[in-house]
Amino acid sequence: KLGNATAKAELGRASWKLLHTMTLRFPEEPTQDERDALNNYFHLFSRLYPCGECAAEFQQLLKKYPPQTSTRRAAATWLCFVHNQVNERLKKPEFDCANLDATYDCGCGDEPLNSTT
Ligand code: FAD
Repeated sequence: KLGNATAKAELGRASWKLLHTMTLRFPEEPTQDERDALNNYFHLFSRLYPCGECAAEFQQLLKKYPPQTSTRRAAATWLCFVHNQVNERLKKPEFDCANLDATYDCGCGDEPLNSTT
């Protein structure tokens, strides 16, 4: 049956926003448990994402490019790269990953922004 492209795009934007903000708040020096949590999160996300076609594609991407969880920077850069792979498939412009920090402010106020070195 026909999907609803507007709703699908809105779900995508909301999801990417959450995912990017999450990696940019991931610990700078994660414990093994935190690393496992992020890795599991992405794999479970790729199984449960409500758009079936998107979920299947994302699972393939995770196989090809396993989540990088060694540091905050590694995780954020990995997700930016993977999102760019999706952009490419959907013929959307490539995002410059140097702009990550300026784009995603979680508004949480409990930790200085840009502590990403
Ligand atoms: P989006 O791609 O939603 O991006 C939102 C904003 O994030 C952009 O405006 C930009 O500011 C920023 N951004 C863009 N690229 C990056 C990047 N690389 N890193 C950081 N920030 C960035 N839709 C389909 O039709 N088919 C699919 O198979 C499909 N698969 C998807 C898989 C996943 C896991 C997700 C989360 C979404 C998927 N979508 C899919 C939805 C699609 O990716 C878009 O979210 C949707 O089309 C809306 O696009 P948009 O142009 O508003 O920008």
